[in-house]
This record gives sequence, structure tokens and C-alpha cells, in this order.
Amino acid sequence: MSANAYSIWVAEYAYVTNYPIGGVLSGAHNEGVCKLPYCYVVIKGGGRTMMVDVGYNHSAYGGVLGDRFGVEHWHSPKQVLEELGITPEEVDTVFITHSHFDHLGNTDAFPNATFYIQERELSKWIWAMAQPEHMQWMMTGTDPSDILRAVELTKQGRLRCIDGPQEDVLPGIDLHVAFDSHTYGCMWVHVRNDLARQSQNGWVLAGDLVYVYDNLVANPQVSDGQIEGKLSLKPVGFAMGSNTNLITASDDMLKAVDYQVKRVIPIHEERLKDVFPSRISKLGLRVSELCLADEQASAVL
Ligand SMILES: [Zn+2]
Repeated sequence: MSANAYSIWVAEYAYVTNYPIGGVLSGAHNEGVCKLPYCYVVIKGGGRTMMVDVGYNHSAYGGVLGDRFGVEHWHSPKQVLEELGITPEEVDTVFITHSHFDHLGNTDAFPNATFYIQERELSKWIWAMAQPEHMQWMMTGTDPSDILRAVELTKQGRLRCIDGPQEDVLPGIDLHVAFDSHTYGCMWVHVRNDLARQSQNGWVLAGDLVYVYDNLVANPQVSDGQIEGKLSLKPVGFAMGSNTNLITASDDMLKAVDYQVKRVIPIHEERLKDVFPSRISKLGLRVSELCLADEQASAVL
């Protein structure tokens, strides 16, 4: 029996050394700082190479935003994916969880990919961009050029704007949505790696609906591949929509994997390295390996 349809990796492409805890955990004022890795997810199998989000390009306004958020050690997808033996040209499908610059900001690096995004995520950012200057707080983490590039992809037939959840967008892959939560149309990706409808081997790629394990568990103790602690949902520190929607989205994501916290993947979580086999690459960036498909060599051993 084939164990996994897909291999899944979380690849770090940059990081912030001292990010305020209050930014990752709503209401955690004056609780110090933490390292915040910036990552994307690679899913490979069944003749496909897919990604969840594409990071950003540290140039033009992407570089301005990166500097503003204190991002260091940025590397290109070509350099980062090389550690997985993958080229950006090979990537055929990208699921964009949301439009913040560090998730949507490098579509140009993937010339052969078809992109999936929620319709509301795109249309409401256009709305936000069109608000008067005194309301531009809404654009805090968004590069207008990224939105324009996404629209431009429609002309090339490479953008799929979907409205709401969609099952089996590709075999074993479901797209879900948390409207008006972290952003207007935040998507999360459920990979049913046994391809079963009632999956016993699912992974949830959470985008920014959760940043770290503390958004799911009170005082998480993370070591030796385990996350210990009492389930206790807390919103991330940045919401365009409501904290209520963040909490219900977190519960939906956990429900999809029978409340196995380990199967919900927060990509800004540094402790992924303690939960999954990981390696620091020659670039000084982490690669974490969630699972391997048959005949796929490990990228971390
Ligand atoms: Zn975000």
C-alpha cells in the first residue's frame, strides 16, 4: 500500500530575528521577541510539483516591506528550491493562501505555474487599494504591485479565482477558506495524502491563519517530534477581519486532521525543526520534511 501520494517540505527563504511576540499572538503585549522564519511549502508527487505560497522578491517595494518588517537573509526560490532538487520552472501549481507580500510577492519566479487564489482575496485588496490615503493602514503588509501581477496572470490564463471551498482541486487536495479572518479570503490547503475522502493521513497547510503552535496550544512543549500541551486557540496578532473567524478557522483546520496538532502546519513556526526531520542548508536556511512519497529521496538526511 502506498503510504503517501505526496512529499511535503517546508522551505525557509528568509527570517526575522527579533519579531514581537505580540505580532504572532493577539494581545501578548510586552512579551518580548522571537525568531520568525519566512517559508513556503513544496508538495511533490503524482507527476506534479506544487507550492503553497511563493514568498516575496526582495527588490523594489518588496524590498522596502522586507526591510520594514526586519527581514534578513532573503534568498531566491532558485537557491532555496535547489536544496530540494527542484527548479522554479518545474512548479506547475501554486496555491496562494493570501495576498500579504511574503506569500504572494514572487509569482514572477514561477513562469510555468497556474495560481489559485480566492476571488474575495483579490477583489477586496483592490477595494483596499482604492481607499483614500488616510485609510491605507489596510495595506500594511501588502504590495499593490503583487495584486497587479496577480491580475496580469489572468491575461495569460494562469490564475484561477475560486469562490469558496473546493474539493479535489487536484487529487487528494482540497482548498478551504476563512473569510474575513487574517485577511479577506484566507485559503488553507488540506492534503489528503492517502487520497481517501475520510483521510487518516491528512496535512493542513495553514498559511497565516496560525503563525506558531502557541496559536493552537497553551504553552506548547515541543521536542522529539511531539507538541505537548492543552488545546487552547488564540488568534494571530494581525487580523483584517475578526478574531472570532480566526478561532473558528483554527477549529476547522484541526477538525480536518482529527485534532492532531502536529498535522496543522504553521509556516512561521521556528520549532517545526523540533517536530519534523530538518536540515540547515548551506545557505543557513532550514528545510523541514513532513513526509515522503514512495521512491522520493529524503532532502534532509
Ligand atoms: Zn499574512
